[in-house]
Amino acid sequence: MHIHTTKSDGTYSVRDVFEKAKKEGVEAIAITDHDTVGAVEEAESVCAEYGIEFIPGIELSAMHGSKEVHIVGLYMDRHDKDFRETLNYLQKKRMERNEKIVKKLKDNGVSVDYDELFEMTENINTAGRLHLARLLIKKKAVANIKEAFNKYLGEGKAAYVAKIKMTVPECVAMVRKNKGIPVLAHPSKLGADEMIETWAKQGLMGVEAFHPDHRFEDSEKFLKIAEKCDLLVSGGSDSHGGAKDYTDIGTVKLPYSYFEKIKKAAGKKV
Ligand SMILES: [Zn+2]
Ligand SMILES: [Zn+2]
Repeated sequence: MHIHTTKSDGTYSVRDVFEKAKKEGVEAIAITDHDTVGAVEEAESVCAEYGIEFIPGIELSAMHGSKEVHIVGLYMDRHDKDFRETLNYLQKKRMERNEKIVKKLKDNGVSVDYDELFEMTENINTAGRLHLARLLIKKKAVANIKEAFNKYLGEGKAAYVAKIKMTVPECVAMVRKNKGIPVLAHPSKLGADEMIETWAKQGLMGVEAFHPDHRFEDSEKFLKIAEKCDLLVSGGSDSHGGAKDYTDIGTVKLPYSYFEKIKKAAGKKV
């Protein structure tokens, strides 16, 4: 219920995603690219071919204090006009951010051309830090993705630029307005457990209990929090293809019963 494609910062095409999911025996998948539903149309047209149920999704970023919070929206309606306008705005902001990062990299002695970033992505509107990290590797400025983030791109590092600041309630409201299901992504990475109850009261509908970054104890903890706050349980591999190799499709699966509850909440027949 959480997969990225080449339409954002994943390395799998839509077909690669379905091929891989089929091989792993996954029954349903959600594609949740950052700030774009660019992969949804193709996924909708090919899913039947693979016999896999497809959920149109998105991953949005909000800020909580200095922390970046990711909200996955499931069952998003890509035709909704307001939603499309907001996405266009977010993509514009994303490009401005990339320009700022490129400038900061230059200030730090790493010569990166904005045009080179174009070559790293299928969709420049959704280029982000992972693309920049790959570019830094290509230019031999760093050895790997981890070093790119630790040295330059990560929070508080030399070339870090914060993303635009939607608040969590704003982000949740945007998904709800579209009749989607807003889910708090990878909460262990965030470390703001105490906020989950508040966000739930503000409209958050689910939390990812299953994620490659979660140890068994983390999953147990978030399952408990979900129960306490009456939240749906979600999760998935958060696959970015081969870019982050410990999170390939099929590495983290969500029990089907949790998926059925999400589906029901979205008003779909189970
Ligand atoms: Zn995320
Ligand atoms: Zn993600």
